[in-house]
Order: sequence, then structure tokens, then C-alpha cells
Amino acid sequence: MKTVIMAGGQGTRISELFPDIPKPLIPICGKPVLEWEICNLRDQGFKDFVFTVSHMADKIKNYFGDGSKFGVHIEYFVEETPLGNAGALFKIHNLDDDFLLLNADSVFDVDFNRFVAFHKSHHGLVSLFTHPNSHPYDSGLIIADDNKSVLQWLTKEDKRPEFYKNRVNAGLHVISPKALALSGIDASLIGKEIDGKVYKVDLDRQILKPLCGSDNVFCYDSPEYVKDMGTPDRFNQVKKDFEAGLISAKNLSNKQKAVFLDRDGTINKYVGFLRNIDDFDLLPGVAEAIKKINESGYLAIVVTNQPVVARGEVSVDELTQIHNKMETLLGKAGAYLDAIYYCPHHPDKGFEGEIKELKIDCCCRKPKPGLLLKAALDFNIDLKNSFMVGDSESDIKAGHNAGCNSVMIGNNKKCDQDKTYGSLLDFVINCLDKNVNRS
Ligand SMILES: [Mg+2]
Ligand SMILES: [Zn+2]
Repeated sequence: MKTVIMAGGQGTRISELFPDIPKPLIPICGKPVLEWEICNLRDQGFKDFVFTVSHMADKIKNYFGDGSKFGVHIEYFVEETPLGNAGALFKIHNLDDDFLLLNADSVFDVDFNRFVAFHKSHHGLVSLFTHPNSHPYDSGLIIADDNKSVLQWLTKEDKRPEFYKNRVNAGLHVISPKALALSGIDASLIGKEIDGKVYKVDLDRQILKPLCGSDNVFCYDSPEYVKDMGTPDRFNQVKKDFEAGLISAKNLSNKQKAVFLDRDGTINKYVGFLRNIDDFDLLPGVAEAIKKINESGYLAIVVTNQPVVARGEVSVDELTQIHNKMETLLGKAGAYLDAIYYCPHHPDKGFEGEIKELKIDCCCRKPKPGLLLKAALDFNIDLKNSFMVGDSESDIKAGHNAGCNSVMIGNNKKCDQDKTYGSLLDFVINCLDKNVNRS
């Protein structure tokens, strides 16, 4: 599979730090950011590159040459006049098969074979790499159905629902040439002057967005590290993360560590069976705690029993809304969840209004470990180096049954072999942080 890298950006904000260097050549730990990316891709078998270059093109070409120095093959498409971020795609020769399209502005370490496998199995024309971030309130949002088919692509200016899933486009894509053909753009006009303006092509607005809502675009949710380094602040953060080894550690081909979080009584106030979205409120300190988990490199994954679904008291759609509220409230405070797993089942049959097919003795209702085992499979998690945090006996047992360290939270609760903390934040500060510093 070919990889097209958009390396023509001017990088006006970051150039305060590096006025004479094009963005892709900005060094991190002694090596240009684009070289790290090339090596990352090469080591996974992606060796055929096209760079689209314009700003300081010669410096980039001089550094990378034909790629042989790095064990890859590189071709260049030089834009004499800027064609927009997608104009070049219509002009590059031999772009006949699905290709990876990446932005040289961001720093990433991603298991690309896993991403491509997702693309193939969903049979879409476009797969977007998506992730939660720490500022969803001022980011564009991707809204998808349960099969990850993208229904809507909201920009940060668009009106958004009150509660939404924290899912943001990361700027990495797998694209079929058919998506370009379907855009209806006349390639012969690109770069020509029309009504006094050069005709350019914008990837998101003219190619990707019009394809949403028709089962052509799918989103690949991943907790791997992808961050834009377009401002001095972000650059410094990326550098810090790089030096701490956080970037490569989050590549899903490496074993991950997770904090599994119970929901009711751990994240939100315990109100018995939570049926009404208005009853959902975060406990004090929870957003701060989850933000710290996010920064630690551990995944934050909710595992919750929701027998209210089997009881017929909360529909799956209503539960999704409640979880959207949880993600929205956390997002406002700069925290995010990497995934949510729930058990909708309950074993006791024979009640009015129940959903019969969910009244089963399943493998996922805590204290059974099914939710944790599923997450471990999905995200390559090393369970023995992970934590299960909850406020009830069944959480502690589920953690043990999955082979995790279990932690009980809540005052006045004692649990024999397990550590007990007053709150989630108390656990993060007094246990998790120490673990992070040790490893
Ligand atoms: Mg609970
Ligand atoms: Zn279940």
C-alpha cells in the first residue's frame, strides 16, 4: 500500500521556534519528525511513499532523497502553486489502489496494519483514524453508528447535540481512489485560475464530508498516540511525551496497561438503578482523576453492569445518551475515556417489561471478567499490570477473575486483600502515580 504524506504545510505558528526549517524537518530527540514517521511505517512494511511538498521543498528533498538511505522509496509531488491539501491527490500518477494519507503536521506511532485491516473489513471508501481528545468542546466531532459508519461530521462551528461522544478526526486516513472520483472534481481545473482565484481542493470539505452518511466512510477508534505539534506549546508537550516513551508505548502492537473503571458509585453519584439521564452527575474529583490517568499512559476504560437494559427500563439508545453525557461532562474538564463496555444482561427471568433475550446467565456481568477480557483482546491489554477500580465487591472480584489488581474505593469500606481508597482521585494520586514513576 502506498503512503501519501502531505508535507507542504507552512507551519506558521510553530515556525516561531524553527524559522528556517520546514515543519516535517523539525527535530524531536535529534531526528526530524517526518523521519520518525517514515521509520515507523517502514518497520511495519510500508515502504512506498509519495511526499507532496511546496514550502521549502528543496530542504525536504535534499534530506530524504529517493529514500534509499532510509530503506524506503520516496517520490515527490512538488506544488509550484499551492493546490489545497488534496489537489495533489488528483495529479499523482499511479495512485490506483487504496492508499494511506497522512499529515506531516502530526506526531504518531500507530499500528498501521491494524488500521488497514479495519479498513478492509468494513469495505468503505474512506477510513478515518479517530480518537477522543482532551478538548472535544472546541474540536470537530465525528458521529457514527454502532458499526462505525460515519453519519455526521461536525466542524467546531456546527451546532452540536447537548451530549455527544468524544470522537475526533486525527488526520490519518485510508482512502480509495474511488472517493476522489466520486467527489466530481475536475482534475484538469485544479491549479488553474478561475474568476481570478486559483482552484484548490480541500480534503475534508470537498471529498470526505460529502461521503458521510452513505456507508462510505468509517471511523477507526484507537487510543494510540497522534498529536498535532503545530504550536510551540504542543511541540513541547510532544517532546516531553516522546522522551518519556509514551508515544511508542501506546502503539497497539505493544502490550497496554489500563485502569478499568466501574461507573455507578465510582464515576457518577450512586442513585440505585440509574434510569433517568438527569440523575447522572460526576462525583467530585473524578474528571481530575481521569485526566491524570490519560496523562499517565494507562488506558481509561469503563466496565459497567447495566441490568436496567434487560429489565426494559433503559433502552440501548437511552444508555448511549447517558454515556454521551458522561463523556461530555468529562470532556469539558479535559478528561476522556478510551472505551466503554457494558453488560446489558441479568440472569433472573419472569418480570413484567423485561427483554427476554437479555435475561441470560452471560459471561460479562461482573463479577464475571467478560467485559475486561473483551477489552484486553480489543486493545492488547496486559491484565496483570492493570487495575480494576470500583465501589463494590463484584468489581473487586471481576478484577481478580480477570487477573488484574483490584482497588476498592469509598470511605468505610474494607476489603481483605485489596487496597482501599477514599475516592478515584485518592487512588490515582496515591497508587497509580507511584506505579507510573516506578515503571
Ligand atoms: Mg458501582
Ligand atoms: Zn452480560
